[in-house]
Amino acid sequence: MKKLFIRKSIALCLCLCLCFNGCSPALKKYGGAFLGTFDTTVQISGYERSQADFDTSVGLARSVMEELHRLFDIYHNYDGINNLKTVNDMAGITPVEVDTRILDLVELAVDMYPRTGGAVNIALGPVLRIWHDYRNEGVSLPPEDMLREAYELCDINGVIIDRDAGTLFLKEPGMSLDVGACAKGFASGLAVDALPDGYILSAGGNVVVAGLPGDGREAWSVGILDPRKDSDKPIVTLSVSDGAVVTSGDYQREYTVDGVSYNHIIDPATLMPALRYRSVSVIGMDSGLSDALSTSLFILPMDRGRELAAEFGCDVIWILPDMSVEMTEGARAMAKLSNSP
Ligand code: ADP
Ligand code: MG
Repeated sequence: MKKLFIRKSIALCLCLCLCFNGCSPALKKYGGAFLGTFDTTVQISGYERSQADFDTSVGLARSVMEELHRLFDIYHNYDGINNLKTVNDMAGITPVEVDTRILDLVELAVDMYPRTGGAVNIALGPVLRIWHDYRNEGVSLPPEDMLREAYELCDINGVIIDRDAGTLFLKEPGMSLDVGACAKGFASGLAVDALPDGYILSAGGNVVVAGLPGDGREAWSVGILDPRKDSDKPIVTLSVSDGAVVTSGDYQREYTVDGVSYNHIIDPATLMPALRYRSVSVIGMDSGLSDALSTSLFILPMDRGRELAAEFGCDVIWILPDMSVEMTEGARAMAKLSNSP
């Protein structure tokens, strides 16, 4: 009797083991997209065993993006939360208690200010707001004295982070933060943290991968857009196995005055749009940092950019106005130019 029971148990175990290995469906690639966060479409692809599993993962990433969108929004208030608009509205009045992810983002950005020689300045809000309004009008450039006056209120030292109290304060009335340089990359990084391995997320120029593709490939293919309007093919394709690829491009929010095209990245030294490159892509492990760096390198001369890339352990691809492509050595190792075999 006992022997029969043992034999039956072994048979049941074997059967369960076989079923576990043999019955579960193979990994398949799924894709989806959603709108409504960070002014862009978020595309997600991943390897899962079912559509339901994929939908659950996308739901998780989406709720992270939606929550961070509300926290980092400088244009709208939301019931029950203090966001960056609240902080801007309270400038010169009182410190505002905020979510730690706001403090994390602002700390990252404030840290980048001295490291990039002031190229990226999230306290540039008053100047960026003027450019934003003129760009929306689309007829003329903002007068220089208006920009200069606004710049008086852009001192990064007036951004006071109090970790113990959990507050953020802008010292002077009229100061304002604009986190456009790094918020999307920062949020994309946290959204990907909510995904299982075998996923890739792309949010308007910010690509982040989680683990390797589930089809045996050793890397994902990430395309760098050709900045020319008439081209829909990537100019460079990168093999990326880890981290983020973040691009700042002049084609993202441009407007034309008297035949000259102006973009949305403002050089704090001139208070004018930076015109050195068509796009700059940073390949790095940290998505938020790579985003802040991509905006900085878009402004800085290439030799300074190369130094910073080495300092941050990142790789970079610059596309110049004549459409020539420059890369760091590490980027070259990952890249295939679209006209190469
Ligand atoms: P995108 O948001 O289009 O992906 P970027 O990451 O390069 O592109 O960020 C550009 C945004 O950063 C601008 O729309 C503006 O909000 C902000 N910005 C522009 N110039 C600066 C600057 N010098 N320092 C900090 N933020 C900037
Ligand atoms: Mg950026």
